[in-house]
Amino acid sequence: MASMDLQSLTIKKFHNSLIKKEFSVAEAVGEFFDYISEKNGDINAYLHLTKNLALSQASVVDADLAAGKELNILAGVPLAIKDNILIEGESTTAASKILQNYRASYDATVIKKLKSKKAVFLGKTNLDEFAMGSSGENSAFGVTRNPHDLERVPGGTSSGSVAAVAAGMAVAALGSDTGGSIRQPASFCGVVGLKPTYGSVSRYGLIAFASSLDQIGPVAKTVEDAEILFNAIKGKDSFDSTSVDVHPPTRGLKIEDIKKITIGLPEEYFTESLNKEVADGVNKAIENLKNLGVKFKKINLPNTKHALSCYYIIMPAEASANLARYDGIRYARTNTDYTQTNTDSLHKSAFSQRKSALEDIYFKTRGGGFGKEVKRRIILGTFVLSSGYYDAYYTKAQKVRRLIKEDFDRAFDQSVGGIDVILAPTAPTPAFKIGEKVDDPLSMYLSDIFTIPVNLAGLPAISIPTRTNTEYTQTNTEDSPHKSASSPRKSASLPVGFQLIGKHFHEIDILEIGKQYELATSR
Ligand code: GLN
Repeated sequence: MASMDLQSLTIKKFHNSLIKKEFSVAEAVGEFFDYISEKNGDINAYLHLTKNLALSQASVVDADLAAGKELNILAGVPLAIKDNILIEGESTTAASKILQNYRASYDATVIKKLKSKKAVFLGKTNLDEFAMGSSGENSAFGVTRNPHDLERVPGGTSSGSVAAVAAGMAVAALGSDTGGSIRQPASFCGVVGLKPTYGSVSRYGLIAFASSLDQIGPVAKTVEDAEILFNAIKGKDSFDSTSVDVHPPTRGLKIEDIKKITIGLPEEYFTESLNKEVADGVNKAIENLKNLGVKFKKINLPNTKHALSCYYIIMPAEASANLARYDGIRYARTNTDYTQTNTDSLHKSAFSQRKSALEDIYFKTRGGGFGKEVKRRIILGTFVLSSGYYDAYYTKAQKVRRLIKEDFDRAFDQSVGGIDVILAPTAPTPAFKIGEKVDDPLSMYLSDIFTIPVNLAGLPAISIPTRTNTEYTQTNTEDSPHKSASSPRKSASLPVGFQLIGKHFHEIDILEIGKQYELATSR
């Protein structure tokens, strides 16, 4: 088999080559594993590979191909899965020591759906512990590095999924987005990341972080691929009561329709302090869309300034409740030192002694098993929910959340000449240096300032690179993306993403505009 260009291999290209029998799935998977073993040491995108599973999935598709069966577009496609999404029988750690011996006892709904399309899973990807962070540095199993510049972070928390796709170690991937964790790293690594509307994708089998915000979504090289994955995973699921089936208009936008579209530019996102590289990239994207005939209009989302504080009340409150389940008894109590306790006393002594031995297990497991950032959020969450403070913090934050949602509703209100879609930068800066913000939580939290309002309002949003892959290669002359893993790029050529935000359950709008944009800019 001729060696594949893994870097540019999309779902669409993979499928077309597969049905032309240019390679077998087993060969393709073998090539991916070889490439991963060469690259993962530098990038640390994968925490564990699911080799046996991948090979058995590959052989099923190869047999279908040999039998002349028609293949689904996802059949045989090698995917990476964030390690907070359960695959039955496989290790699932959420990048935390507390889950380092846990194996999933069932498939997440998204995994079941992808298995039914016969997609192949290469492995589980690194993340900030329990999806808390913005840089990939909070993993208990080592930082993930940005394939465009190994001295920089890939963003977080879907750091491994995004880095794997950007480096060509997977065709596409799944991530999760609670406050920006798909879009912000997609922006940092030059790939596409979609956060679906809250409710359009089941979270059954996603390790819960902040349940009123969490969503699973695709990471891909093109908007078209993100759409293929989204269509495969969306839909109502009886195991997640927040999920719904929604049927927005299915007709794709035509170039004539795009001329009728008005995109809103929120003034609160385009301030003087916006990083120059980001501003230049996003302005160029706006120009490109204007050339397609799209109209732009300035809008206001006045409560944006409250989004970060609102999120940092609601998110830790929910996280502290969700993480209470990790007690050292359930979910594969770990066998490391920090859980060792005098279990004899559990059997032979009085109630109080038993109680203290049990508490000892809790303290040691949670004290040693959770990292610093996770503890910070549990403490914050427990505080804002504590008696006497609940109304002052949590109830107030819920009211502010409503105001933030109403800002978007007003902007989208067609009856008063509202806009169709909103465009904004995905992140305030390009990828920063590893270590630059790790000791300054506030500056780290500020990296999500443009993504968080979308989660609070439950809207769909997609991050799209402002430049095409060809442009990266041009600015980096002979420095190919593969080579960059060993010879870091200059910051001037770092990727920058822009975000398209749609109305509830109107993923189709942002996907169609994204596809038109891609088509126009890749010519
Ligand atoms: N960076 C945000 C946080 O730390 C968002 C995380 C996420 O989306 N999972 O909470």
